[in-house]
Amino acid sequence: MKRAIRYLRFSNLGQSNGSIERQEMYTDQYIQYNNITLVDTFIDRGHSAKIFDRPDFMKLQAFIKKHQNDVDYLIVDQLDRFSRDAGEAMTLVKNLQRQHSIQIVSVTEGIVFDYDTPGSYFRTGLQLLLAEEDNINRSIKIRGGNYTARAKEGRFMSNLPPFGYKKVGEGKARTLVIDGIQAKVVLFIYESYLKDMPLKTIKEEVRAMGFDRGGNMAVERVLSNPAYAGMVKAKPFKEYPGGLFPARHEPLIDMTTWNIVQNKLQKPDRSKKSLDDEIPLRGILKCHCGQPLSGAPSRGKAGNWYYYYKCKHSRHNNISALKAHDQLLQICQLMSLSSNQIDQVKKTAENSLKEKFKENQVLVAEKKAEIERVQEKLFAVEEKWISNQITRETYSRWYSNYNSEIYSLKASVERLSRDPSEGYKLIAQHIGKLTDMEHVYVSSDTLAKRELISLVFDSNLYYKNGIYRTPTIVPVLHVTN
Ligand SMILES: [Zn+2]
Repeated sequence: MKRAIRYLRFSNLGQSNGSIERQEMYTDQYIQYNNITLVDTFIDRGHSAKIFDRPDFMKLQAFIKKHQNDVDYLIVDQLDRFSRDAGEAMTLVKNLQRQHSIQIVSVTEGIVFDYDTPGSYFRTGLQLLLAEEDNINRSIKIRGGNYTARAKEGRFMSNLPPFGYKKVGEGKARTLVIDGIQAKVVLFIYESYLKDMPLKTIKEEVRAMGFDRGGNMAVERVLSNPAYAGMVKAKPFKEYPGGLFPARHEPLIDMTTWNIVQNKLQKPDRSKKSLDDEIPLRGILKCHCGQPLSGAPSRGKAGNWYYYYKCKHSRHNNISALKAHDQLLQICQLMSLSSNQIDQVKKTAENSLKEKFKENQVLVAEKKAEIERVQEKLFAVEEKWISNQITRETYSRWYSNYNSEIYSLKASVERLSRDPSEGYKLIAQHIGKLTDMEHVYVSSDTLAKRELISLVFDSNLYYKNGIYRTPTIVPVLHVTN
C-alpha cells in the first residue's frame, strides 16, 4: 500500500477553493479512493506563497528528509499551493522526486508528477504557468480597480479612517467626514509641529487629548498622511502616473501647510530639536552667512556656566546669550506701537474679519442651495422605491450616496458660518499687548518666544557685527519714527 503525506495551505488570494476544509475534502476523497495510507498532514495558514521559507513548509521539508523512505506521495489539492512563482514550484516538484523519491499528486488537476513519465513534466509545468497567469490577471484587476478608485474617484480606500475622520456610506458611496473632536487633535499636531514643539512633547499632549492610535510613530503618520490635505495616494498603474490625487472628502489641513510639514519631516532641523530655556533663539537666529546659530553653555573662570550662540564657522559669530537677549528686548521696545497705531491695526483686523465673514456667507448660501438640490434627489429616489420602480439595493446605494454628500455639505456650512464675534473678542483682548512687546516677549514661555520671533521677522532675523539685522519684518511692527 502506498503511503502519503498531505500539504494544505490556507489561501488568502480570495480563490473560491482556498479554504482548508475544501482542500481536505478533495484530498480525502482521493486518498480513500486510491487506498492510500495517510502518514501526516501539514497545514499552512495565512502566509503568502510568494516565498518558500514559511514555517510550516519548513516543517514539511524536515519531515520529508527524515521519512523519505516511508513516504511515496505528497498530496496537494492544487499545484500552485507551493508557490505563486511557477519556476520555483517547478524546481521544488522536481527536487522532491529526484532527491527523496517522493511524487507530487495534485488532486483537483488529476496529476501525479513523475519525472520519468513522458509528458508529465510538461503537464505539471503548464498547470503551474496557468495558475501564475491567473494570479497575474487577478492582481492587474485589483490594482486597476484600486487606481480608478483613488486617482479618478478620489476615494479613501484603507480600512481604518484617518484619526479625525469617520467613514459614512457603503461601498462606492463610502466617504470620509470630519469628526469635530478628533479633528481638533489633528490640528493641534500640525500646529505644534510647525511651532517646533518637540515630537515627544506633542505625543504626550495628544495622548491626554484622546489620541488613541497605536505605535511609536502614530503622530508622524498623522503628519505625513496626505488624506488630511484632502488628497489620496495612488500607485502608478500601467501608463498612468502615481502620486497624489484630489480626494472626495474635505481637507483638515490646507495644502501649503501640509507641504511645509512634509519638507520639515524630510530634513528635520537638528538645531531645533531640543528646547533650552537659556537659549530660546537657538536655531531661529541666523548667522550673516545664513546658517542658524547653535547654542551651548561653556564654563567661565569662576566655574559658572555662560551660554553662547555661535555659528559653525568659528570666526563668524560667537555671542554671549546674555548680550543677545538684552539687545532683543531693546528691539521689542522699538517695536511696541503707539495707541494711534493700535487703533489702526484694530480697524484693519476687524475689517478683514468682516470681509472674510461676507465671503463665507456667500459660500454658505451656495452650499445650502446645493444641500437642497441633493435633498430633492434623495426624495425622488425615495419615491421611486415606494412606487416599486427600483430595487431596495439600488435605493440603499443612492440613499447613502446622497446622504454622505449632504453630510459633508452640512459640515462645511457649519464651518463657514462660524460667528466672527469670537474673532473681535480676541482682537479686543490682545491688541493692547502691542503697546508693550517687551512684556509680551518676557512673559512668554520658550516655545512662544521662538514663535514670536520667527513670526515677526519671517524667520529671517540674523546677527552681524554685534547687532541684529533683518531683511523682513511684519509690516505693522515696522518702526517709522
Ligand atoms: Zn556664519
